[in-house]
Amino acid sequence: MKTVQEKLHFWIDGLVLRGFDTSSIVSSATWRGQLEYIRVSCSQCEALVINGVAYHETGCPNEKHECNGCNELVSRGRKYCEDCI
Ligand SMILES: [Zn+2]
Ligand SMILES: [Zn+2]
Repeated sequence: MKTVQEKLHFWIDGLVLRGFDTSSIVSSATWRGQLEYIRVSCSQCEALVINGVAYHETGCPNEKHECNGCNELVSRGRKYCEDCI
């Protein structure tokens, strides 16, 4: 059983891997109590979240996509990861 904190950190790790390098966990007090959520952000663009999926702006240099040969994430402008070249 994972705690909320662990889940949030797991998500942050995934976001950072996909280029959302300045994403962070935000903690704020609301009428329902302390609420923690993730703020998705990228140092190179105005990252946005649509239906729970984070996107970079078109042309962002931090944008990553899947390698054409496997599921490894590679930088923009590259088709294959180190292993698949
Ligand atoms: Zn970006
Ligand atoms: Zn690959």
